[in-house]
Amino acid sequence: MTKSFRTLDDVDVKGKRILLRVDLNVPMDNGRVTDATRLERIAPTITEISGKGGKIILLAHFGRPKGRDAKESLKPVAAALSQVIKQPVGFADDCIGEAAAKAVAAMKDGDILCLENTRFHKEEEKNDPAFVGELAKLGDIWVNDAFSAAHRAHASTEGLGHVLPAYAGRTMQAELDALGKALDAPTKPVIAIIGGAKVSTKIDLLENLVTKVDALVIGGGMANTFLHAQGIGVGKSLAEKDLAATALRIMEKAEAANCAIILPVDAVVAYHFAANSPSHAYGLDAIPADGMILDVGPQSIVRIHAAIDDAATLVWNGPLGAFEMTPFDRGTMVSARHAAERTKAKKLVSVAGGGDTVAALNQAGVAGDFSYVSTAGGAFLEWMEGKPLPGVEVLKVR
Ligand code: AMP
Repeated sequence: MTKSFRTLDDVDVKGKRILLRVDLNVPMDNGRVTDATRLERIAPTITEISGKGGKIILLAHFGRPKGRDAKESLKPVAAALSQVIKQPVGFADDCIGEAAAKAVAAMKDGDILCLENTRFHKEEEKNDPAFVGELAKLGDIWVNDAFSAAHRAHASTEGLGHVLPAYAGRTMQAELDALGKALDAPTKPVIAIIGGAKVSTKIDLLENLVTKVDALVIGGGMANTFLHAQGIGVGKSLAEKDLAATALRIMEKAEAANCAIILPVDAVVAYHFAANSPSHAYGLDAIPADGMILDVGPQSIVRIHAAIDDAATLVWNGPLGAFEMTPFDRGTMVSARHAAERTKAKKLVSVAGGGDTVAALNQAGVAGDFSYVSTAGGAFLEWMEGKPLPGVEVLKVR
């Protein structure tokens, strides 16, 4: 397959000023970074450009500040990044203007400089052309390595791509390659597993997937809405009963597109939404009126395993049950481990993403065994919805 976007293979970075958009939105507690995963992910791009003698000027947002706010400064994050990449990372107190220009002018080949939170300027989120121009003055080329921010058309995530030569960083490249193999040009048959709490947050995603995959497993709280729509009593389970018509429409669309919908055939039911509350598995004709479905049942797990065995490609978003509480994590854990085994046996390409999904795969101890796990939340979901991502579109070779 020919590459549809430019990468670092297509540019000589030596001596150039590289405006590198990264995701530095790491979890912090009391000024300390509590999870450095995102910093580790961008390390290869930074090390490569620095090693080749490019001057790296990091652009990123942090949190949702309304104007300048010391609590949302990137300064401590730059320090944490320096520890991860084991190289000095300079810092400038603003991302435009004199502070930034002076710091950039002082850089030598291979140096790394982090500019202050782009969202300290409201023009960032407005993709304001004058602000884009101010940023562009600081660099010769723009490299986007922040897939997780690519669903936003902001100045540093999209605008710069229109005024400077634009390239995908290595992390972005890996993400686009993995996602391409999962939905754009997958090895068939393709199965999607979609779980999570509610149908309402995933209608667009389900409607897109039924046109692209061969089978769609629906689990979690959202499966209850589909069961209810089919006239099955779901007791006191989480269910969006007002979305019954939507659920039926999605099922019709799936049938028309030859996509098999795989719903639970049994369920684990408890009477309290609490860890270790007493529970039993019931067939769908016998869900107690005062009970709550908190996980898929054992027969459903057998079906899901068979569906995974039939597939060559798997895309997964959302847990199959209330996985934060034992024993209602069982369906998610066992199915995740099964998908991991198939992947290790080279029978399956498995791609998963979304905040809760990453947490669930980590809990199952198999995140490293999937072909690719995306840590992007909103951008991953919009990609699954089939929406063009502005920060990716602008990288495409036209
Ligand atoms: P989402 O963010 O939409 O992926 O939803 C994830 C949340 O759905 C997790 O917090 C799960 O505990 C919750 N969830 C999954 N299955 C159920 C269920 N059967 N009943 C209630 N909550 C559920």
